[in-house]
Amino acid sequence: MKVFKGYAAKAAGGALEEFEFEPTPLGAFDIEVEITHCGICHSDIHLIDNDWKLSTYPLVPGHEVVGVVTEKGASVDRALLGKRVGIGWQSGACLTCSECSSGLDHLCAQSRATCVGRHGGFASHIRVDSRYAFILPDALASDVAAPLLCGGVTVYSPLKTHNIRAAHHVGVIGIGGLGHFAIQFASALGCEVTAFSTTNAKEKDARELGATNFVSTSDPKNLRQLRSSCDMIISTAYADLPWESYLAALRPRGKLVIVGVPSTEISIPGFTLISGEKSIVGSAIGSRSTITEMLTFAARKEVGAVTERFPLSQVNTALASLRAGKIRYRAVLEVG
Ligand code: NAP
Ligand code: ZN
Repeated sequence: MKVFKGYAAKAAGGALEEFEFEPTPLGAFDIEVEITHCGICHSDIHLIDNDWKLSTYPLVPGHEVVGVVTEKGASVDRALLGKRVGIGWQSGACLTCSECSSGLDHLCAQSRATCVGRHGGFASHIRVDSRYAFILPDALASDVAAPLLCGGVTVYSPLKTHNIRAAHHVGVIGIGGLGHFAIQFASALGCEVTAFSTTNAKEKDARELGATNFVSTSDPKNLRQLRSSCDMIISTAYADLPWESYLAALRPRGKLVIVGVPSTEISIPGFTLISGEKSIVGSAIGSRSTITEMLTFAARKEVGAVTERFPLSQVNTALASLRAGKIRYRAVLEVG
């Protein structure tokens, strides 16, 4: 029997420890991937800490995976062997329900996550459904591409869904992993981009990534000055924010898109939405077709992760740095 090697949390909030596990059987549509890189998304920290009450331990996190296909199930094309692929948050869906049939497979009720109830990418190998593994464009280096598989598509998807174009003004709250992609994608679409950040030291980087404006939110007065100006604001922060002030920064019919997961309820007076016909909408990762489109767009427009790289053996150092808000802008584990 084969053994895969990885790092697992044994209890909520615990440090990751070396861990060996037997792979699940290789299903007809499955592939085995020898992992070379895995990004660390803040969702991995939410899972390690059991913030969402769905973690089981031992837990091998990791859902921004890049590697090479080494084995295939009976129904997988031989041509996939040896190919470099990426795998994101989602690793399966029923592929027959109305959501799956209409290109919204990421919203399938039977969606399976790469590292929930199964072991993820902080490991030597992974077995996943080949239909959730994406061949990467040659132009994207593996470390630059890995974080696109979750962080990248999560902010690309609402720009596509809500038809954001060059005439629009997009705000991005939180310049971390997701936020630094949101600035790049909105800028590449030609939009005016405003970065909202608690960290003044990120202004130079935000502008280099494509932000037109930088608003320091450590002083709430700065936020109040910006009224009725953004068509869309994407919130990537995992914190509770002054939501009314951000709604005030939207133009009429503007949308506040929630992708970061706040720890408490979002509470706002109804009139904040009614006057100006504004909306608060959620957005979850992206469908298979959106991931494929996003990868092509990223390769063509040179959108990629700004990374800090760590060997897999230093995963706890990388996690501590992310928890401390020190990563610029995505930690990527190098495996092997
Ligand atoms: P990250 O790299 O840690 O970045 C989060 C950023 O939020 C920080 O860099 C910081 O930016 C800002 N922030 C942190 N604390 C804050 C506070 N108290 N007030 C205001 N801003 C604060 O995290 P990430 O990987 O981008 O993930 C962000 C969130 O998105 C997580 O909750 C994650 O679970 C979620 N997520 C959701 C989806 C989805 O499908 N919806 C997919 C992936 C991830 P500044 O220093 O610029 O303020
Ligand atoms: Zn993620």
